[in-house]
Amino acid sequence: MVDGEITTPVWTGDLQAGRFSQKKVDLSRWSGRSIRLRARSSPRDSADFDYVLLGEPVVSSRKADPRTVLLVFVDTLRPDHLGFYGYERDTSRAIDAFATKSVVFEAARSVAPWTLPSARTVLTGRQPEEYDVATSLQATLRAQGWATGMIAGNVYLSPNFGMNTDWDYQHVTNWPDAAEVSAQARQWLAEHDGQDRLLLVHFMDPHLPYDEPEAYRRTFAGKAPPGFDEVVELSDIKSAAPLDADAQAWVIGRYDNNVQHAVDEAALVIGDVDDDDVVVFFADHGEEFWEHRGFEHGHTLFDEVLRVPLVIRAPGIEGRRVAAPVSLLDITPTVLDLVGARAPDLDGVSLVPAMRGEPDAERVLAARDQAFGRPLYGAPRWGVLHEGEKWTTTEGREALYRLGPDPGELENLLKKDQTAAGPGWSDRLGATLGREVAMGYRIAPGRAPGALADDDFVVRVAVPGGIAAAWAGDDPLQGSQVLVEVGPLDTTVDPPVQKAVFTWVRDYPGTREVYLVPTRPVEEVTGALAFDVEYGEDRASLSVTAASGTSPGATRLPLISARLRGSRTFSVGWGWAPQPNAETASLEGSDEELKSALESMGYVEGR
Ligand SMILES: [Zn+2]
Repeated sequence: MVDGEITTPVWTGDLQAGRFSQKKVDLSRWSGRSIRLRARSSPRDSADFDYVLLGEPVVSSRKADPRTVLLVFVDTLRPDHLGFYGYERDTSRAIDAFATKSVVFEAARSVAPWTLPSARTVLTGRQPEEYDVATSLQATLRAQGWATGMIAGNVYLSPNFGMNTDWDYQHVTNWPDAAEVSAQARQWLAEHDGQDRLLLVHFMDPHLPYDEPEAYRRTFAGKAPPGFDEVVELSDIKSAAPLDADAQAWVIGRYDNNVQHAVDEAALVIGDVDDDDVVVFFADHGEEFWEHRGFEHGHTLFDEVLRVPLVIRAPGIEGRRVAAPVSLLDITPTVLDLVGARAPDLDGVSLVPAMRGEPDAERVLAARDQAFGRPLYGAPRWGVLHEGEKWTTTEGREALYRLGPDPGELENLLKKDQTAAGPGWSDRLGATLGREVAMGYRIAPGRAPGALADDDFVVRVAVPGGIAAAWAGDDPLQGSQVLVEVGPLDTTVDPPVQKAVFTWVRDYPGTREVYLVPTRPVEEVTGALAFDVEYGEDRASLSVTAASGTSPGATRLPLISARLRGSRTFSVGWGWAPQPNAETASLEGSDEELKSALESMGYVEGR
């Protein structure tokens, strides 16, 4: 420290070569004066210290009444596997007392069954597709002088997916143990003591693979059954399928071990902040344990993957339970409300009125619709929750569940009559997403083995009456390039005709679908739509016939399909789909290096 002629050392110590390390020095004795801070390194006998880089030094003053917002994010955590949500195992013993003092939301849902869209919504209070135009929670608080930090263990929270914006400090590693994460979080909190500070700490442990510390390994699970190692990988479960009841119970026991481990470590971080600090405990999605025959997450929109824990502790608000349905969309608006900040244009709402037990607050929440969709795997799915009923649509097939009497979503009320739902549901989905939801043609190539994906897959179609919209669906697995070309409207014929060409570019084995919304309603266009498919030397010409039906919902799907070279299929059906708009950001963003990292972790299937 240089103050006039006098130089005073404020910190001397050893640094580790090749690593960034954070140091905090107390400058309070020079308060109110202009001084100069000088850094000097001494390499001694190591060439590693020829130079030292200083990264973003920050001068902050200790506030009289600093505020803390702690976001505790546990990946893949089902609420019904926590003691304070009624689970018979004491997985949450370390935070049960915290939950009693907090507001526990008994029916919180995510907007998607996997991390990236869920996290984007948590941090913006908006639909995940609006991430690029949204103001993040950390940006709002940072602009008001808050220190902001994120410590996470999932690649979907990394800069590769644009999740580094507006944090002062971001540290993302791959699958860290919860103990490592809690230590880093506690260090960050200690370094930012006395400041307004926002910390997001993310625990990965309940996500596969299960590799909890020895001390937890036998808590809820015995020795590994035949076919399994002590470390449980997704591939082990897949190759052992179908699992018998004992093996399933063992896998669930291992999940519970990891839940307890993550919760124990989360409790240490929560214990480091004051009782009057804001703490939000939540997950991005749940996990399937064969309720609908599947395992893991990212595939469906059933409640075992959409339901999440949500617990909020805030100063001056007593512990209570809130039964009304709420969403991860509501976290940012609630935090902003609690700290007296505001952000415009949020899709979520503040939960503070319900937390205070204000009359009518829960009724207002229950009257609100919630939309969800965007699975990571398979065909796109969308759904909406409306007054206790859940409607979902995928590949032109709709399902409707009445959650009160059927919380397990076992009885699809549309099974016998697909038309029973009526068009009101797609309108509700569109209104909730803030996007146009249209009935259109869904065009999908089947998956092709890698060796046969060496030609472009081209589909040409002429649409009588014209084309209102044509687009390629999202591709969260990052595998594809699909070109969409729409020609001019040819008015020299009656009715006018518009042509579109869709090209799935070579080397793509997947099934990314495209949508085509005709200007005229689909049932009127039926009978006059011809598709030409080209795949290498193979050609197929198909047309949608009048016999396909006049009511989209009642028609057996697909309308037409063909099999081409290498068993590669092509099909056309129809269904509801939200159209992209100017604000829509894709849920993509990786490069080749990241793709191989995702493959190695089982997120993306290899070619
Ligand atoms: Zn996740």
